[in-house]
Amino acid sequence: MSKKVPLFINGEFVQSRASHTVPVINPANQEELAQVPFATLEEMQLAVASAKNAFKTWKEVPTPERARLFLKYQHLLKQHQDEIAEILAKENGKVLADAKGDVWRGIEVVEHACNVSSLMMGETVENVARAIDTYSYVQPLGICAGITPFNFPAMIPLWMYPMAIACGNTFILKPSEQDPLTPTRLTELFVEAGFPKGVLNVIHGGKEQVDFLLNHPDIQAISFVGSVPVAEHVYRTGTRNLKRVQAFGGAKNHMVVMPDANKEQVINNLLGSACGAGGQRCMANSVAVLVGDAGNWVDDIKQAMTTISPGSWDQPEAAYGPQISVKARDKILGLIAQGRKEGAKCLLDGSGFTSKTHPRGNFVGPTLFDQVTPEMTIYQEEIFGPVLLLLRAKTLSEAIELINHNPYGNGTSIFTSSGAAARKFQHEILVGQVGINVPIPVPLPFFSFTGWRKSFFGDLHAYGKQGVRFYTETKTVTARWFDDQVVSGPNMTISLQ
Ligand code: NAD
Repeated sequence: MSKKVPLFINGEFVQSRASHTVPVINPANQEELAQVPFATLEEMQLAVASAKNAFKTWKEVPTPERARLFLKYQHLLKQHQDEIAEILAKENGKVLADAKGDVWRGIEVVEHACNVSSLMMGETVENVARAIDTYSYVQPLGICAGITPFNFPAMIPLWMYPMAIACGNTFILKPSEQDPLTPTRLTELFVEAGFPKGVLNVIHGGKEQVDFLLNHPDIQAISFVGSVPVAEHVYRTGTRNLKRVQAFGGAKNHMVVMPDANKEQVINNLLGSACGAGGQRCMANSVAVLVGDAGNWVDDIKQAMTTISPGSWDQPEAAYGPQISVKARDKILGLIAQGRKEGAKCLLDGSGFTSKTHPRGNFVGPTLFDQVTPEMTIYQEEIFGPVLLLLRAKTLSEAIELINHNPYGNGTSIFTSSGAAARKFQHEILVGQVGINVPIPVPLPFFSFTGWRKSFFGDLHAYGKQGVRFYTETKTVTARWFDDQVVSGPNMTISLQ
């Protein structure tokens, strides 16, 4: 049997005593890379105890000292970026260049966490009443926990624990059981950076382990990223238990294509967005709304799509990798079949794709549907595969209305050369992240990742200023210092004078 992925508790990598393990599989060839154990109750309790104990001292570490550890961590992550990307590519399937991007977008959050001193600044007003000042601090919450999905095994864990820990909290991470080797390597480098023991703990598992975190009274805040049904469960359970919760769910993102846009740029950006990472990105534009005469570009889109094909992570000619699992691939194939059955016009069907070099890989070839309508299952459901749907709209207003009726609100883009069209779109669209001639508008970490509607449950988003607010509590002090000994009688009114 292959090696067991260790847990990380109280500064030590430990072998779990769990009897329940699942294999970590290279999705390009079904090779078993490791076994991931589902942490036992006792192990999870130890992780909480370790985080609880570490919080007592970690919260007192001055912010510049915390920042210096993150500077070291950033340096180590950069130094090992290629090696981490290779681990990631093997277990997740992403092609190497994309895997490096996954690591890089995580490193950028660590860089943001290095600014913690200025990010944690409070507010001050002098003389709110005579000789009275009011000022606020932000202070850490305590133990926070994060649950992450398979599709960004470096970036999404790094959205969470660097921000939480920089703010003075301690953290328990439960990564995706499908690709836990990348977060394990990130944790080894965290140790090498010199963080004290107990500040970060890592447990592995699935629903049972997540439910433990959601129900544990010592855990103050939960960050979750994953599919909508699980995000809803996490949000409902966590908030019912009076925890602070941010839960990022799935998506159905639209790219609006105006006829005044540059056709070649549109097609390149659209295909990269829809098929990159095998469509396994929550910000992928998997629906194109062709407005007016842009409806005549279908043949060109199809032609360009025939030139891309998937492959293994180490094949430089591969446009994207396999789907994460056989189950995920079969779900996509089922939806493609359903699309055909419901009357969408399948212009390219990647269902039958097999790789000559990797015949056992979970590959799906690029797939293109035209004449899709909003009632169809392929439009209603998140496919999370390299499947692009084409819809038409007569006007920009009609395209906006269509998107605003979709329950998701993670990301959207418009491609146009008209400032007026772009301005109307950014103003009227009910989606939290908007790209103007940008196909995957993921904000850099000094902004926040602001999905809306069914793509996000909670109030404060990931990273940026909102990330700091999510992981901290505000304390407001109203202070008066007497500079004479004049003592007035008791004041029975509420006013401060
Ligand atoms: P998933 O919901 O299956 O799993 C996410 C995490 O939840 C994993 O750690 C998993 O172990 C755990 N989990 C699974 N089932 C559970 C259950 N019943 N109860 C409690 N925990 C459970 O998601 P996935 O397939 O790993 O990731 C893909 C999904 O994540 C897609 O829907 C994608 O759109 C979404 N996603 C969203 C964003 C975003 O920012 N909105 C970012 C990345 C991915």
